[in-house]
Amino acid sequence: MKRIAIYGKGGIGKSTIVSNMAAAYSSSYRVLVIGCDPKADTTRTLYGQRIPAVLDIMKENRKPDVSDVVHEGFGGVRCVESGGPEPGVGCAGRGVIVAMNLLERLGVFDDDPDIIIYDVLGDVVCGGFAVPLREEFADEVYIVTSGEYMSLYAANNIARGVRKLKGRLGGVICNCRGIRDEVKIVEAFASRIGSRVIGVVPRSPLVQESELEAKTVVEKFPDSDQAAIYRELADEIYGNTDFTVPEPMDQDEFEEFFRRFIYSKDN
Ligand code: ADP
Ligand code: SF4
Ligand code: MG
Repeated sequence: MKRIAIYGKGGIGKSTIVSNMAAAYSSSYRVLVIGCDPKADTTRTLYGQRIPAVLDIMKENRKPDVSDVVHEGFGGVRCVESGGPEPGVGCAGRGVIVAMNLLERLGVFDDDPDIIIYDVLGDVVCGGFAVPLREEFADEVYIVTSGEYMSLYAANNIARGVRKLKGRLGGVICNCRGIRDEVKIVEAFASRIGSRVIGVVPRSPLVQESELEAKTVVEKFPDSDQAAIYRELADEIYGNTDFTVPEPMDQDEFEEFFRRFIYSKDN
């Protein structure tokens, strides 16, 4: 069983990547996707609409069963959303803790899926959002970032969290925003923290077009280049055996690192 956790700043493209990879895997594997973001929208494009989040379900039903929390989407992908209050309003990590406990209790993991993908919001890896990283849940971490400052800043903080929790980083995924030298910047970042870029996803209007219909690109435009890119990324990650404990930068070094790319024309 392969168990991976995808981390990255809010809005960077985690859910798009997770849902498209899940759709790609679904033709060959039994897939379980667990959305660990209070936004609870990871699985919308797999299921065709939002599914109820574990925290909300538990408010109404103290003893939910598997069919209340696990919803089958595209290609038979099993979908779960932890849910939770918005960060800053309450404990945003609580949904993850509650959801994971419930899933264990219900034996959802005993079903032996081939691959489990956690989609985790994490500008900083806090108690709740660290849960998937713990040994008993995920074995591999991938960080999604663009070449933008805030996204790399978050990626560096996540790398710090991964290190602290002795997680294994499998690579950095570059989800492009279209800024100058973007892949180069993300490659330099990945290499500096002791990792590598495992996939580059270009910006594409097909993402929005399929999102409008609550579908993944892999489902809606299976013959497109963008779908091929998500499938390639999925394959790359499935076959990955190269892991490192990341070596994050401190604040000063990070500033210095980033400035290099802004002011140097050679880079
Ligand atoms: P996250 O899960 O990290 O919060 P999402 O996957 O929800 O981020 O993506 C945020 C927005 O960016 C979405 O509206 C999505 O359509 C868009 N997006 C993500 N990746 C791409 C891409 N490669 N090309 C175009 N738009 C993208
Ligand atoms: Fe909740 Fe602790 Fe994370 Fe805050 S830091 S969101 S209290 S788990
Ligand atoms: Mg998301």
